[in-house]
Amino acid sequence: MTADQTSFVSRNPAAPSDVLAEFAAPGPTAVAGAVGRARAAQPGWLDQGAAARSSALSAIAGAIEAAADELAALAVREVGKPASEARAEVARTVAIWRYYAQAPYEPTGAVHETAAGPGLLLTRRRPHGVAGLITPWNFPFAIPSWKAAPALAAGNTVVLKPAPEATACAVRLAELVRQAVPDGVFALVPGGATEGGALVSAADVVSFTGSTAVGDAVARAATARGIPVQAETGGLNAAIVLPDADMERAAAHIAAAVAGYAGQKCTATSRVIAVGAAHEPLREALAEALRALPVGNPADPATVCGPLISGPARDRAAEALDGACVLAAGTAADGPGWYAAPTIVEKLPAGHRLLTEEVFAPVAALLHADDLPHAVRISNAVPYGLVTSVHTAGLEAALHGLDRLDTGMIRINAPSTGVDFHLPFGGTKASGHGPREQGRAALDFYTSSRTYTLAP
Ligand code: NAD
Repeated sequence: MTADQTSFVSRNPAAPSDVLAEFAAPGPTAVAGAVGRARAAQPGWLDQGAAARSSALSAIAGAIEAAADELAALAVREVGKPASEARAEVARTVAIWRYYAQAPYEPTGAVHETAAGPGLLLTRRRPHGVAGLITPWNFPFAIPSWKAAPALAAGNTVVLKPAPEATACAVRLAELVRQAVPDGVFALVPGGATEGGALVSAADVVSFTGSTAVGDAVARAATARGIPVQAETGGLNAAIVLPDADMERAAAHIAAAVAGYAGQKCTATSRVIAVGAAHEPLREALAEALRALPVGNPADPATVCGPLISGPARDRAAEALDGACVLAAGTAADGPGWYAAPTIVEKLPAGHRLLTEEVFAPVAALLHADDLPHAVRISNAVPYGLVTSVHTAGLEAALHGLDRLDTGMIRINAPSTGVDFHLPFGGTKASGHGPREQGRAALDFYTSSRTYTLAP
């Protein structure tokens, strides 16, 4: 949406004439008002104590679980997420709220001895105030939740600005959260760049997930204000396949990581690096796995690859194939939706955009490396550093990969996609800015440490 728009619609990517709703983009003054109300509510939320915050988060988990079927269907309709993945995302969202429901009881500091003489030193982590959360459309329940749950658990209040494409999902999530917390503790502001920018200008801490270009701008603006910021951004992720790998298993994992949810995950695989003698068997197995991948309407329980989020996204996917030699392509689903066929290309000229840019579509390039160190150099030779998968039967090779790869996450014999919500998640280089998300790292991000000196 453009900066001067005052309203926008959200459409079903599988049937674009199906409009979910029209939403107002309320503008910067409304965002500042929401932050002001959240700031007024924050001391009361903190002072309610750990038990109240913990039971509110548990109640949110329960409400989401009770609404699971409805929420999954909404994600299918609004963001084209295949039904099986939508159900899995909702289940993960429930688990995220349950996990952070225990967090208010965690220690928030430590007691230390003084350097000299009697007395006592204490360190204690305290919340920042209002957390401004800016989220993408591709995980419409899990990403707002993995930001909001630790922020609330630590005693912050929250203002969420979701992606316009996922506003109906965010509205429903906000209804469920708000039923469990006092007024002002959780607010939703719909909209686009204008509202997102206004939130960065007003919040006390900012957590962003989205594209690298926007994430860089958000990180710069927040840093200029001197507030803590984290930005989880794009990827151009590699899968390295060694000759000793189980080729069929590796190919199945890679095809799913290339084309699952039409490649619209930051962790999707977009470069497949075959090492030495792996090249020919992998080439065949990958082509077969890709052609066999169920493509179609996201509401169909068997679908793995559904539509892209928008017409422009589909056009970008088609343009990205210019100058590429197609090794294998699945079929694009019939119908009016924004579908693109999953595609693996090979023999790309150096500098081709599939090797330098995140396309966010079910497209990947097959590349060749002479040996593992060469494969690691290829994996590292991009601006991004989110995740690499390594497929091998040998622990030694896996450990070599662990040593030299420069991505934030390394997955051995598993698809590059997949997230463990209780561990730090994030990337290096253009894939991320600031502290990691999720797990214990998230509680640290939403708090800052104070040191207290107690003289005898
Ligand atoms: P996007 O950058 O277009 O938008 C993300 C959010 O930022 C939206 O809410 C948008 O309205 C808002 N926004 C846009 N301009 C802004 C501005 N100037 N100031 C403040 N906010 C602004 O991204 P998207 O298309 O919604 O999502 C896809 C991108 O997200 C991909 O690049 C993908 O890799 C990335 N992503 C990363 C992760 C991760 O954890 N690393 C996870 C999911 C998605």
